[in-house]
Amino acid sequence: MKITSIELYQVDLPYSGGIYHLSGGRTYESFDASIVKITTDDGTTGWGESTPFGATYVAAHALGTRAGIAELAPALLGRDPRQVDRNYDLMDATLVGHNHAKAPLDIACWDIFGKSVGLPVYELLGGSTGIPMSMMSSIHAGDPEEMRARVADHRARGYRGHSIKIGTADSEGGPALDAERIAACLADRQPGEFYFVDANGGMTPETVLRMQALLKPGLDFVIEAPVSTRRETLSLRQRVQYPIILDELIQQDEDVIWTIAQDAADGINLKVSKSGGLTPGRRQRDIARAGGLTVSVQDTVGSAIAFAGVAHLGTTIPEKLLRCVLNTADMVTLQTAKFDVIHRDGGILPCDAPGLGIHVNEDVLGDPAAVWAD
Ligand SMILES: [Mg+2]
Repeated sequence: MKITSIELYQVDLPYSGGIYHLSGGRTYESFDASIVKITTDDGTTGWGESTPFGATYVAAHALGTRAGIAELAPALLGRDPRQVDRNYDLMDATLVGHNHAKAPLDIACWDIFGKSVGLPVYELLGGSTGIPMSMMSSIHAGDPEEMRARVADHRARGYRGHSIKIGTADSEGGPALDAERIAACLADRQPGEFYFVDANGGMTPETVLRMQALLKPGLDFVIEAPVSTRRETLSLRQRVQYPIILDELIQQDEDVIWTIAQDAADGINLKVSKSGGLTPGRRQRDIARAGGLTVSVQDTVGSAIAFAGVAHLGTTIPEKLLRCVLNTADMVTLQTAKFDVIHRDGGILPCDAPGLGIHVNEDVLGDPAAVWAD
């Protein structure tokens, strides 16, 4: 089996919630998606997606994603897509870094691998636990009572995990407003729910400690990405009373190893495109497991194609360590693909269709932005 063509598509994914507010005054209304279709000599096709969360989230941006794919795609022509590790070695030898550009190519290769052997991708990643996974909401920062209402809306739609965005400058409310947001969002907490209080690296040790002093005892949550650097994380780790989850600081295998070696956090958020796709995502999953870190599987954002990768990796993580999966497709209004999941016991499981199990709606993709072919 050989790769004979690689097509690259660009689509805009409008945010389903209006304007997304993140710490540091960052806002997003639409997300620029790069979608890859790989075709092999026997006509098998595979799909992958990489949608950075704007250009101000991590060191990734959509124009860079497509420029990176242009560097990588010619090298992959003629390769067997099923040799996922060897193809990744080749991508690493062709372009240093740029996980977000490698991810969609890698994911498309896994999709083909699954189709070629008639198995869902999760089987190739080690097998599903068969335990329905909790879905997590993404509650952007805003008025505390309005955030509480959005948590309630997601609860009504079956979400058991909630990611509460905080990290407001002192001039706009600061730690006092963030403490109010946390109290409001947890006010109606139900048994079995899990809360991430996520600053997206937008606070300092000082503002986190001030916020902690304003919170009443007994609130059950983990604090996620409170600060933006390793130094600040280690400083805060000694003084904050809540478990710490890292997200933006986790991109390479070495970041997971550092977290364990320094005991810097209790869990990680594994975002598939941020980690570089399913091949490094699988490795980071295993490093985290060996270190006893909890894992939530997500992506930066994305449509149903991205969510399929999230679901297939997530379902391979033991229940004790898996917290939630993020349904990125629910964050955007454009449906690029149909991805059927099984809803059971308040959670979801990917179905057992071969590959990623998606049916891409090629009509919404338009003409390819670029094509590489033998
Ligand atoms: Mg996060």
